[in-house]
Amino acid sequence: MENKVFWQISNGEKVHILKDPWLVQQLDHLISNRSPMPCEIDHVFDLIIPHSRSWNVPLLHELFPPDIVECITAIYLNSEVDMEDKLVWTGNASGKFSTKSCYMGLLNNRPSTSTMSAFPWKIFWSFSIILPKIHIFIWKIIHNGIAVKVNISRFIPNIDTTCRFCHQQKESTLHLLFLCPRSRMVLNDTTLNSSADVLEATFCETMIIRKARQNFNLCISEGETSRVNTGLSHRTGIWEPPENNYIKINIDAAFIPNNGAAGAVARDHNGMFLGCGTITFDATSSLLAESIACKLGMKLGQRFSFYRIIIEGDATNVTDTVLGDSRNIPWCINSVIHQIRDAGNSFVDVKFVYVPKALIIWLTLYANLQCTIM
Ligand SMILES: [Zn+2]
Repeated sequence: MENKVFWQISNGEKVHILKDPWLVQQLDHLISNRSPMPCEIDHVFDLIIPHSRSWNVPLLHELFPPDIVECITAIYLNSEVDMEDKLVWTGNASGKFSTKSCYMGLLNNRPSTSTMSAFPWKIFWSFSIILPKIHIFIWKIIHNGIAVKVNISRFIPNIDTTCRFCHQQKESTLHLLFLCPRSRMVLNDTTLNSSADVLEATFCETMIIRKARQNFNLCISEGETSRVNTGLSHRTGIWEPPENNYIKINIDAAFIPNNGAAGAVARDHNGMFLGCGTITFDATSSLLAESIACKLGMKLGQRFSFYRIIIEGDATNVTDTVLGDSRNIPWCINSVIHQIRDAGNSFVDVKFVYVPKALIIWLTLYANLQCTIM
């Protein structure tokens, strides 16, 4: 249970660099480099440029190996300077120790069955509207069972795993279907003949994994099934344009254990596409993935120097946290929430709007791509 506790850095005054656990990415949260430090540098505070809320990166490079520097600089130093370092219990979202969460933590440390067992397979297979070949294809994606080179290399060592299309990245399922420039070209192909469709397709990249694994039941219960029959271009009545002087940025995230993806799309009051962004990252929870999507939306707004934005997504827990009390921010998204808040200062106005879960249609769209890509 020892590694369930770490220091959340605000000003770094309370935390000893080598003795205290404060690197959330490390298993024991400690700095593994135990080489002696200059005696005037002992607290995390000494690694921060005074009055700047920035890490002293040259000093970090002097003291630590690159992987540790990366872990440290990933900690966001928020602008709320009066906040103190806080000891956080990682056994639950609140960061406060409870015997219940400790007990659950001990239970979870036991060998467990596959995470796949939680997936609503009965509902998945009862979903009769999808063509059988597409159904099977989605099932393969969920199990990472597509014969991409990275998967093949698990059985045949020393084969070249470079993508056969772009020759730049490793050919993983994620890359081949969603990230490769070639698959992006396919998305812009003839079946997607309006700019709105292309936009949906881009956004789709971030959606499939979560939609596949978690939302079949939601989609069905929300009556999304009828939309699957209506073709690929139906979004009318779902996306509402923003007010005249606002830009609407739609955000969403996808999450499976250890992998996350987020997307953001900006449109004006005429529905005109202005820009979009996608990102993939290591994620430990869907809450973190949704927070990163929100941050991506804010960054997109900053990049295009919008004045007034509406961030529209389906994660009310994230927006509630952004607008709520700093003391109630779950430890796992503390850094991201502060980045969202600080980014908010660069706009005249930011509104957060809730929309229900997105469309299962994107799944079908992607599954259709197998014929073209594979
Ligand atoms: Zn590629």
